[in-house]
Amino acid sequence: MKVALLCIGDELLKGSTVNTNLAFIGERLLRIGIIPELSLEIPDRRDSILKALDYAYSKADTVITSGGLGPTSDDITKDSIAEYFGLPLERNEQIEAHLTAWWQKLHPGPTPLHWNRQACFPAGADIIPNRFGSAPGIHLEQNGKTIFMLPGPPAELHPMFEEGMLELIRNKRKEPVYASLTHVVGIGESIVEERTQPLLHDGVSVAYCASPGHVKLFFTSKNEALLNETTNRAKQIFAGDILSEGVSTLPEEVLHLLENRKCTLATAESCTGGMISAQLTAIPGSSAVFLGGAATYSNELKQLFLGVSETTLSKFGAVSRECAKEMVEGICARTGADAGISVTGIAGPSGGTSDKPVGRVYIGIKFQSTTRIFECNFRGGREQVRNQTVSRALNELRKLLLEREP
Ligand code: AMP
Ligand code: MG
Repeated sequence: MKVALLCIGDELLKGSTVNTNLAFIGERLLRIGIIPELSLEIPDRRDSILKALDYAYSKADTVITSGGLGPTSDDITKDSIAEYFGLPLERNEQIEAHLTAWWQKLHPGPTPLHWNRQACFPAGADIIPNRFGSAPGIHLEQNGKTIFMLPGPPAELHPMFEEGMLELIRNKRKEPVYASLTHVVGIGESIVEERTQPLLHDGVSVAYCASPGHVKLFFTSKNEALLNETTNRAKQIFAGDILSEGVSTLPEEVLHLLENRKCTLATAESCTGGMISAQLTAIPGSSAVFLGGAATYSNELKQLFLGVSETTLSKFGAVSRECAKEMVEGICARTGADAGISVTGIAGPSGGTSDKPVGRVYIGIKFQSTTRIFECNFRGGREQVRNQTVSRALNELRKLLLEREP
């Protein structure tokens, strides 16, 4: 099975919308061992869509499109694809009922006329239900060619893909392909690759997907026993550096470990300005563990909210081991949290000195009676320094928590 993606929408080419649908679909397909042959970004234009379909089917048998399924006149994906396959558009009662119900929920009254277009469907196609929007997805099989059309808004596309599409794609495969995903944290991609190499042999393939402090390790195989054996060996190799079963991010893991230990957490952030607490609070249920955080950017607030001493600030400066220590101890003392994280550093682009260059960050971690301070020298621009700080801080706390039995 060979897959091609067509991301349709003028906004993608104008640069006003980042093509996150490609990133999402690519990652989800990788989880089942599929790497698309190609992806094209094309405007909402009939001729572009027709040419792109020709090209896509010269490289693949299955095409997934995103965008252009809405009710407005620029949404022409469905019309163009029906034309490509020489199929008429027919009114579909099931979609009509969905649209009417959707509209009634928003505005009681008659369904607007332009929605008539949305109730039309290429003859013989199947519906992919959309719980979060008006436009359903479309699945069409024609002369050995498969097409899946999905709406553009990520909030609609993501659940549709996970709830309906992945299963359809899996079922289309002639032979089953088994896949596993292991999350390795705190180790760079090249080292993960080097350590994974000895595990690889015929019949198992591997792919890596890296973000700061986190490498997703995907194994796929047609042989289930071989896949399980390889995955288990990887888990042994990376023991201590992998996320728990069912957990897929570092902040989730930290919350999970703290919850198992019935402990609470608070943060004191300077150069990350609340990024750590934003990541923690993005996780449902975090309130069971996370008490809150102080974004203490100025020296005054470090003193006022955390009790950092005047002497520490004048003698060592705000970006120092000593300050990070007083910050983490201060936030724990003032909130009563069992665990704490502090960060203070120079994210750049200005503010660096030969003594303390841009990228120098001090991270403080505290759990019960243990406090540890880390001096880090991150590379890159402001965002990279801040992102690396967040993942390093969470990972150091994760490691300290693992040293204590729940
Ligand atoms: P649609 O009406 O289905 O064409 O898409 C409507 C909205 O979905 C657009 O205005 C974008 O905000 C968003 N969107 C469309 N395509 C993408 C994409 N490839 N990645 C992220 N967002 C997208
Ligand atoms: Mg559009």
